[in-house]
Order: sequence, then C-alpha cells, then structure tokens
Amino acid sequence: MKNIIYTSQTRLNFDIDHLINMGIDIAYVSPYNANNEVLLPSQIIFQNLEILAQKAELASKRGLKVYPFFITINHPEGNFEIPAAYRRQQNIDGSERSDFICFRDRRRQDEMISYAAKSAQLGFERLAFDDDLRDAFCYCDAHLKGFEPFNKMTRPQIEMILNSPIDHPEHEQLRLAWYQYKYAGLKEYATRLAKTVHDINPYCRIGICNSAKRCQDFSGRNPSQWLDLFSTDTAPAFIRLCGECYDDNLMHLIQSTGWHNYFNSVFKHVEERMLEITYVTSIGYRSPGNIAAETKSVFAATKNPRVHWCWTEDFPAIGLDSEVKTLKNDLNDLNEKLGSESDSPLCLFIGHDLGAYTPINVTTRYGASHDPIATYNMVSLLGIPITMRSEIKSTDTCVICSSYISREMATQIDQHVCRGGKVILDSVAARCYRIYGGSIEFQIKGPVPSQAFEKLHDGSNSTLIAQCPKDSIYLIDSQNGIDLWTAYDIFSKQTGATCSAFNYGNGQLIVLGYDLSLAARALATLQWRKNLIKLFEYAHVAIPAFWTADLAVQCFMYDKQVVLVNWNSNRVSGGLNWNNNMIDINLEPHEIRVISTP
Ligand SMILES: [Zn+2]
Repeated sequence: MKNIIYTSQTRLNFDIDHLINMGIDIAYVSPYNANNEVLLPSQIIFQNLEILAQKAELASKRGLKVYPFFITINHPEGNFEIPAAYRRQQNIDGSERSDFICFRDRRRQDEMISYAAKSAQLGFERLAFDDDLRDAFCYCDAHLKGFEPFNKMTRPQIEMILNSPIDHPEHEQLRLAWYQYKYAGLKEYATRLAKTVHDINPYCRIGICNSAKRCQDFSGRNPSQWLDLFSTDTAPAFIRLCGECYDDNLMHLIQSTGWHNYFNSVFKHVEERMLEITYVTSIGYRSPGNIAAETKSVFAATKNPRVHWCWTEDFPAIGLDSEVKTLKNDLNDLNEKLGSESDSPLCLFIGHDLGAYTPINVTTRYGASHDPIATYNMVSLLGIPITMRSEIKSTDTCVICSSYISREMATQIDQHVCRGGKVILDSVAARCYRIYGGSIEFQIKGPVPSQAFEKLHDGSNSTLIAQCPKDSIYLIDSQNGIDLWTAYDIFSKQTGATCSAFNYGNGQLIVLGYDLSLAARALATLQWRKNLIKLFEYAHVAIPAFWTADLAVQCFMYDKQVVLVNWNSNRVSGGLNWNNNMIDINLEPHEIRVISTP
C-alpha cells in the first residue's frame, strides 16, 4: 500500500524546518520571494537559482527534496508590471490585456528556456512549471497575423467566427484550424524547452501544473498529449492536476473532487500525478476545516496518494500547517480503508479538444458561458455518486453529457447507445448532437420561459421547472421518441416534452429539455433527486448506493465501501440506500465517513 506523499510549492525564502515539520517530502520553489518579482532581470533569477541550489543541498541532508518552480510565461492572475520589451496580450476586440505577455513572445520564451537550462546545469534533477504554459486568451496582432485565414478579416468578423453559436457549423473547420495553429505554437515551444533541458541532463524530469479544462480547450490541446511532449524514457514528465478550488465556495469544493477525478483518469498513464490543494492569502481567506475536508474528499474521489500543497508559506497564518501535519495520518487511514478506485454507474463524459466547439465568452472566468461541471456538482449535492471522464468505457452503464460537445463526441455517443449503453443529453449537448451528425432524429426548441409544472412518466407532477432560469428550459420535438415528461405553462396549457427517450440499437438515448449549466443550481433539490432516480429506474440504470436524506452529502462508491462527505456545517441524520438496504447514519459537520460492506 502506497503511503501518502506530500509535495508543495513555495518561494525562495522558504524555511526548511517549517516544511519538514509539516510532513512535506518534496518542495518546488520559485526563484524569487513574491509575485511582483516574476519578471526580475534574468541575471537576478540566475543568482537566485544558485541560492536555491545551495538551500536544496542543505534540505536534502534533512530528507527534503527541493527543485525549482517557475511561474511562466505569466503569473496566473496577471503580472504586476510588464517591461516594454515584452509583447502584451490583446483581447479579441483589440484592447490590451495589460497584465499578460503573449505566449508567443519569443523573448519571454527564450528567457524561460534559459532558466530551465540554468536549473539543469546546476544539477537539479527536476523542475516544474505552473499553469501558464497555455495559450488560451491572446488575440494580439502577431497571433492573428500568423493565422493566414484571419489575415483579411476584421476583428469583429473573427470574433463572430470564434464566438458564433453552434448553429453555424460552417465555421467548424476554420475554428479547428485556428486551435491547431495555437497548439502548433505551444508544441514548438515545449519541444525547444524539453530538448534544451534534456540535452544538458537526460535524467532531468519536467513537471507541469495542469490548468483548467477550458484553458486546455482554448489552447487547442489535449492535456495528456501536451504533457507527453516533455517526457522521455529517461526523464518521465510528472503532473499536478487542477482542481479549480481556490476558496470555500461549496460549488468549488465539490468541483475539486470532479476535476481531480477527471484529470486523474486523463493522466492515468503518468505515474506521478499530484492533487492540487491551494490556500493563498492573495486570493482570500479559507478555513483549515474546509481545506481538510476538500483534501479528504478529493482523495476519496481519486485514491491518489500524492497531495500537492500550494503556497505553504501562507499556511501558518490560519494554523493550516499543523492541520496539514495531522491530516497526513488521516489520509493514510483513509488509504488503508478504501479499495482500489471509486466508480459509479453514472459518468459525466467531457471529451478533449472542445475549443473549436465552444463559443468563446471572454466575460466569464474561463472564457465560456457553459460548463459541464455544474451537472457534476448538482448530482453530487443530491448524494448520487458520479464520475467524470474524457472517454466512454464500453462498460459504462449511463453516460451524461452537458454543455457543448464535439462532432467526435456525437459519434461516440451513437456508438455507445448502439452497443447497449444509456446516454442522457442536456438541451445544449442535444442541439450539438443533432448539428454534428448524431443518428437519432429530434429537434430542440426554445428557450420556453414560462413553464409551471411537468407531468412525469409515472403520472406525478413536478413544479421544479418553474424555479429554473428563464433561458434554461427547452422542448423536444420528435416523431420517434417516447415522451416521458410533459411541460405545462403558467396557463396550465400543455407545451411539449421536456424529457424524451429514444431506443436505438441495443441502448437508449434520453434527451432532457434542461440546459443544465444554467439550471443545475435550481435543481439541487430533494424533488429533483426523486425525479432523477425515477428516470434511472425507467432506463434500468441501477444506482447501487446513494444518500437519501438532506442535501450536500456527497457519495463515492468503491467495490466494498461507500464514502460519505457531509459538506454541511451541521449534523445530518439519514439513510444510505445501499443495494436496496437502508442504513441509518449520523454525520457530524464536515465528517467524511467510510462505510464498509456489512
Ligand atoms: Zn499573442
């Protein structure tokens, strides 16, 4: 059984004793002390790397391994000040992104490569890069000029093409080519960087901190192929997964389990994968109790024994350093108790390379207005176990797709249904499925804002539809579908189907009239759990274990165990339905409980 390993990222003025006391095994350290020093002149960075090498030698005698950590090309939240010699990023309307350097800025690229080279020359056997090795949001003149099809177009025309809704499939090839062009630029840089390092020391391993899924998509890359560019037989690359949780917002705590679950499977072929747990004062206060609960739940979702603590120098301010130390024992206990890998009959399927298929929306955090993670969060809040993967396994019982899907995903959905699987599409995924050649015919109409209630397939009524955002409900129009749920408007007039089933091959496609990215929050209710469970029963999708009482108790299923995570700040009492037996359980606030087969 593998023991828990702690890695961390911190800064040059780190305290060796502090890290050792916390139980840190490996520290990745930036060659400066504060974010506003990211763009210090190269000579100072070189000197700092030499200081780091001396500290690393001292630390290694105490059993702590220390390696350089670079925040490249930019600091993730933007740089404090950018010297004039660098090319700044531009938004799609041409305005300047004044805090960010263009990824394709050759001067900055060469600088970063020189720091990596210096690290390898100093004898470091590893170096790691933070998540700015991405090219997601720059539309500077140089970027656009390098892509021939955009040369004769105005910026509004280019924006229209990249931001067009899915009803413009004629833009698909152009968008695919744009994202391939962006990836080619990334690949050129990655290849130069890796070659420089490995020419100096073929055993020097490069680690990448994975960035958010949308940043991967808008960089035009499949994250695992990108990592492979840094990998050789003698120096396998390693990865820090991205959990997207930087505060104590409940949705972010839960999505951390989802994204970790997703990327843990994307990088399954990479032996060294680290779970990202972040507390940094510059983003905001977090409670150590929430951070501990996040860590344990992320471990329960992945069974990954490597926890990566971000910015450990901030931990003493909230007593997180002592919490982290004791947590290692808790995680080792959890590790002993759990089987090999959590699973569920439900899988949220999110394919790679979705950039070309996702309209950009620069006003949102990661550039898109829709995010499938909302569906993962909602199902998790209901206490129903769900996994997230980038591919469908032939053994998957029920696959769910939400938000924008690609042409390739539409084909995979058809194949899965044909061989006997069940697939549920939300209204956005369903529209994409039709546009990208899905075999089953239907139309999605709407949005229809003034719905009052639905009659479900068992004859019961549900009024939840009236609580959903006005642009989140659509109707399904088909010749061959079996209409399961029918909507009625505020005048009690029947409007159409909001859930239809289609038998195809050996399986079944179920289309929901809900845009789950928008509606998911309103659906985290006991009523919707009942509706979903009824829908699963109709489709013969057995959910072996789920929580039946108050909301916000997340459920992870293992072969012989179930893990319950109580996200509530109060005690909850209720029943776990496990293979149709009801088990009464009381959970303390933030408790994580492993229940084993009786
Ligand atoms: Zn640019």
